[in-house]
Amino acid sequence: MSATQHFEDGLLVVDDGNIVGLGDAVELLAENPDVPVEEFPGMLIVPGLIDCHVHFPQVDIIASHGEQLLDWLNRYAYPCEMRYADAAYADAAAEFFLDALLHNGTTTAAVFATVHPQSVDAIFKAADARNMRLIAGKVLMDRNCPEGLCDDPVSAYEDSKQLIERWHDKGRLGYAITPRFAVTSSDEQLVAAGRLASEYPDTWVHTHLAENQEEIDEVAEQFPWSSSYLDVYDHFGLLRERSVFAHCLHLGDDDRARMSEQGGAAAVCPSSNLFLGSGLFDLRAMNDASVRTGLATDVGGGTSLSMLRTMGEAYKVLQLQHQNLPAARALYLATLGAAQALRLEDKIGNLAPGKEADFIVLDPNGTDISARRLAETRSPDELLFALTMLADDRNIAATFVNGQRQSV
Ligand SMILES: [Zn+2]
Repeated sequence: MSATQHFEDGLLVVDDGNIVGLGDAVELLAENPDVPVEEFPGMLIVPGLIDCHVHFPQVDIIASHGEQLLDWLNRYAYPCEMRYADAAYADAAAEFFLDALLHNGTTTAAVFATVHPQSVDAIFKAADARNMRLIAGKVLMDRNCPEGLCDDPVSAYEDSKQLIERWHDKGRLGYAITPRFAVTSSDEQLVAAGRLASEYPDTWVHTHLAENQEEIDEVAEQFPWSSSYLDVYDHFGLLRERSVFAHCLHLGDDDRARMSEQGGAAAVCPSSNLFLGSGLFDLRAMNDASVRTGLATDVGGGTSLSMLRTMGEAYKVLQLQHQNLPAARALYLATLGAAQALRLEDKIGNLAPGKEADFIVLDPNGTDISARRLAETRSPDELLFALTMLADDRNIAATFVNGQRQSV
């Protein structure tokens, strides 16, 4: 069976939030003559897009000029994240952020909140109201950061535990234990994070890994006993199934093999990696090592919430390494591949009957230039590829979450 399937005149049958049928429209309508039909002529229905790593508070500082990772955090990200101590501010930002995701066709995301528990309440409340499948967590950071963003090992453990009890597995929500990165956590805090990871094995672990050379040097200095950056996380019990590591740019083959063996996943953030000048993700090496890999925007290091644009950036990053990314593969990295990276492939990621009905409708005529370019296009691969280069939210005609059309 082919890895992709396309129906020229297709029908997706949805019932009670789930996909119950997929196939040729004429055949399926014969089987389901009474089903009400919504038509999208000339458009393409694809699975809802999945963003494997994004910071919701950083929509406030997206597109901030001129720094590489560590300076960018200090100059832009940390001051902005301090605002999220204010629950009302966090609530309003969470509403804006999730509407923006849906507007861009993203139906699931793995989200960094801030160190403040109220920021996690904000994003989960907003996701629950939209019935979105969403993973999020409180950031853990107790050193090398401004005082207003510092927790400590005890509060990190207690606050996370309370948030897990309150939100994990509620509706479509899932909790991620979220140490920001090894640079900003003490040994004691990483021990606490590892304890949570073993006490709640069906939660996620979500953090950053090997993004920037200066960051890697800092980790090597802070953990002189470690054999690599990944070794630090592994040492504290944070490399396991459902561990998601953003970036994974500067890794050795040993680290990739270790990630694969222990079930960790990589979130590829090409827009962010170019913007912050961090490096180029080696997809071939990750595939060779059989590491689960999904695509991610990493806003605000990334410059767009659009996963279509992010697919386009992934293509360019791979071109620079003489690797080729077919359009169907790019879509896979933002749908079923991303679902596998997040261990949600039994629920979302494609349009197979039995999956939850998260899907979007792509409109080739969303912009003047996409309409002109795609007027004569017949092959779905050609159409999809051009959309990854040209499209933005104007090419998303509709977003459906759990079978419900979203009005955003
Ligand atoms: Zn990030």
